[in-house]
Amino acid sequence: MKRKNGSNAGREQRTKTDWISALLPLFKKYRGKKHPLDYHNRYELIVLVILSSQMTDDRINALAPAFFKKYPTLKRLATAKPEDLYETIRSVRSSKKKAKWLVDIASEVGEDERIPRTIEGLTSLPGIGRKSANVIIRESGDKAEGIIVDLHVLRVVPRLGITNEVKPEKIEQKLMKVIPQGYWNDAGMCFSFLGREICRPTDPRCNECLVNPVCAYYKKSQR
Ligand code: SF4
Repeated sequence: MKRKNGSNAGREQRTKTDWISALLPLFKKYRGKKHPLDYHNRYELIVLVILSSQMTDDRINALAPAFFKKYPTLKRLATAKPEDLYETIRSVRSSKKKAKWLVDIASEVGEDERIPRTIEGLTSLPGIGRKSANVIIRESGDKAEGIIVDLHVLRVVPRLGITNEVKPEKIEQKLMKVIPQGYWNDAGMCFSFLGREICRPTDPRCNECLVNPVCAYYKKSQR
């Protein structure tokens, strides 16, 4: 049978794993840990999430103070033209497109307090997909409607053997089936932090990993 994910250690685990029990050490370690983007309110969060697409969080954090000095609120941002933003965000990938999205959002939403709090509302705004919406909802402490699937989650979850799907939406659906809703907001970031710190793309540090007893990739490497 054709394998769906080249980096996957193997197939979706055939035996029914109690994933929530298996993942508890991860939740204990990372639950509630703030996202690495350096935001101080929901306006800053939404701006940084949009700018960080295909960029490292560190690069975006570095330009954040200059950006928010010029544009401290959505209301202030709504007075700008996209080209006004270019100087501050010129090092950002797809900066012109992102500048237009930000100004369009500012004009449409108007006030920081009116930033949507649901996936439907957030994804109706330009430049915000499901992953970004899940991040914004999680960091805002709002009710989870899905699970964050970023590049780290895309790598870690198939390695663990929770699924052998490769598409973010399929991985998210599978996670939503095996993880109770009360854990959804934190689940994605738990996998993401694990991927950032331990389960790196090359040479994952499996011996230090809290979930190696249930990991398909690790089990396979021990044979
Ligand atoms: S045991 Fe290794 S491959 Fe599995 S999740 Fe941990 S670091 Fe990643």
